[in-house]
This record gives sequence, structure tokens and C-alpha cells, in this order.
Amino acid sequence: MPEVKKNLDKKTNSFVQGAKPSQIISLNKEFKKIDNIVLLTVGEPDFNTPEHIKKAAIADIQANDSHYGPSSGTPELLQSVADFLKNHYHLNYDPATEIVNTLGVTEGICDTMKTILNPGDELIVPEPTFPVYAAAASAFGGKIVPVSTEESGFILTAEKLKQVLLAHPQAKAIVLTTPGNPTGVAYNEKQIQALVNVLKNHDIFVISDEIYSELTYDRPHSSFAAALPGQTILFNGVSKSHAMTGYRLGIIAGPQSIISQIAVIHQLITTALPDVVMAAATEAFSAGENDAATMRVEYKKRRDYLIDAFTKLDISFAYPDGAFYFFFKIPDYLEQDGFKLARQIAEEAKVGLTPGVAFGQAGYLRLSYAASLDQIKIAVNRLSEFFSKQKQA
Ligand code: PLP
Repeated sequence: MPEVKKNLDKKTNSFVQGAKPSQIISLNKEFKKIDNIVLLTVGEPDFNTPEHIKKAAIADIQANDSHYGPSSGTPELLQSVADFLKNHYHLNYDPATEIVNTLGVTEGICDTMKTILNPGDELIVPEPTFPVYAAAASAFGGKIVPVSTEESGFILTAEKLKQVLLAHPQAKAIVLTTPGNPTGVAYNEKQIQALVNVLKNHDIFVISDEIYSELTYDRPHSSFAAALPGQTILFNGVSKSHAMTGYRLGIIAGPQSIISQIAVIHQLITTALPDVVMAAATEAFSAGENDAATMRVEYKKRRDYLIDAFTKLDISFAYPDGAFYFFFKIPDYLEQDGFKLARQIAEEAKVGLTPGVAFGQAGYLRLSYAASLDQIKIAVNRLSEFFSKQKQA
């Protein structure tokens, strides 16, 4: 049999560096089998897709909209995205040439890496972060430059960025995620401007994943695309804001020169998205103004409960401005290997958590609060009991 590809990662037997996304999925599968476990592992809203969006999807099916649609997205969808980005974040994109839809942001990440990276090109990845960027970049021959952000509250500072760019002057792109996964930390206007003041003097793309932009709890979202439109490739979508992970719709917005190239890769891979998905997403972007607002109120309650509970437990954590993740430090009296500890907690305390190391940050655990407050309270009680037993042991 011929070899699939050279340079297999010895640990995972895959050519994808680290192959961390699949580690998270397999851990979750393992935990699901444990009786009576409270699973706080997945990054997926626990709400149903809003009724008006489901109705739009059903109406589209009944209208026999079942043909190959336009690859970049229907004009209605692209217009609704342009209006959404303008009304919510003051961003100006031409729907016909500066926006393309993809099969979730995940496909958008792959398309973008395939489009911008030549083999050996460097991608700066502040960590911890969503592992798909590095996995996709490495699958297409890119070289990852990981940068730790732990010491500055999981925010990349301008000073650190300058140092990294000095050491890697040829880096092709940097990925920034705000609000972040796994930390929930979001960049404010000042922090964005400080980074942009550095980035604007470099020939580098800014890949800004803002998929959690609708889920911020203390202040409105600030966008890198607003501060540096000429270099920014912006990701957003309906998975998190409208509880539509299974519909698979993401969008990329950016300068025409790059969007037109990404659109070619997208067309090669998917031909076009399902018509019903485009119809549902058009409804979400154009008439789903209040959908995220309702969820935001719930998520904020849960987040505030967790902040209070972990403060009382005297466990330090990243301050979660947005998204639905709570990222806390593993106390020194516990097992320090994240995967071992997550398995021990799942078996003994019956709470499913994800090790921070799966996102590039050892010494932390991620708790997803995309679960009911009742479930979260049960989990916190169990964790608190587990922690005090371990402390005494
Ligand atoms: N980007 C980030 C930062 C995420 O956390 C996730 C999902 O967890 C995604 C993208 C995936 O988005 P989609 O469902 O649109 O593929």
C-alpha cells in the first residue's frame, strides 16, 4: 500500500500536528459512557435553534429549494451577513465580493490556511486556543509559532507581539480569537489598538475568529476587523450565537483579493452549501436580533455563579468576558497531568471537563457552561467535595 503522506506525527500517526481536536472528541466520547456524569465538556449551546429559524428552514424545503446554490452564498444570505456586521460591529463589507460562506467556521479555517500558507510558512498562534487553527495549518504544510499568553491574563500584549515578530519577521499570519476558547477572555478596544499599531507595520494577515462576538457579558464586542480591515480575515457564524452548530454555516469577510481566492477553495471542497442551511442562516442574520440576547442573559447568570463559586473555592481562573467557557487553574494539591486529572474527576466526581493542555495550556481545566444552571450547581458541589477530599489526602 502506498503511504498516505510523509512526516507522520509519531504520537498520533497523523500528519496533522498534535491532532488535538480529535483528542477532545475522544475524551468526550469516553466520558459519555460514565453513568450519572455531568458533562461540561462540549463547546455547543444547550439551547434549541429558535423557532423562526426552523420555520424558515422548513419553508425553504417546502418551496423545493433543492438545487445547487451559489457557491459563495445566496445574495440574500450575503446581504444579511453584510447588514449584520454593519449594524452590530460597524464593519463595511461588499456582500458580492468581500464575504463568502463556508461549512461552519471550521471549513473556513481550512480554506484560509490552504489559501494563504505555502509549505513552511509560519503561523503565529497565541495559546491557549481553539486547536483547529494549528491542526489545519500543519495539515497544509504551515509551521506553527506558539506564543504563551498565560502571564498576561490570556491576552497577547503588544510587547510580546513585537518580540515574536522580531524573531519571526516572515510570519504569514497571526490568529486572534475574541472572545476566546478555552478562556472566554475578550480583547477590549485599547488592547486591540495596541496590537493593531504593531501589526499595521508588518506584511502579515490577521485571522480574527469572532464566532463568540454575540456572547459578551460586560461590554459590547470589539472587532479586529474594525481596527485593521485591510489585513484582517474575519470569521463569524451562526453556530454559537443562534444555537445552530448542526446547520454548519460560517462566514469569512475580508479584502476582495483574499476572499476571491478563498472562494475558489471553498467551491472545490463543497460546491455549495445546502440551500436549506443558507435560508436558515439568512433568517438568523436578518431577523435573529433577539435570539442571542435571550441566551446571553442565561449564560451571564451561569458565568456569574461560577465566578462566585470558584472565588469561594480559592481557585484562580481566567476572567471570562464572553463565550461559555470557564478556564481554571489546577490547584497544586491535585494531579497536574491534565488528561489524567480530567479522567480522575470524571470517574470519581462524575463531572466531565476538558484539560487545558488540549488547547495548548498545561495546568488548567476548561468547564463549558453551555449546560443548565442546575447541572452546573451539581457539578460545582461535586467538584468542591472532590477538591477538599484531595486536599486532605
Ligand atoms: N472557532 C472557535 C473559536 C470555536 O470555539 C469553534 C467551536 O468550538 C469554532 C470556531 C467552530 O465553529 P463552527 O461550528 O462554525 O465550525
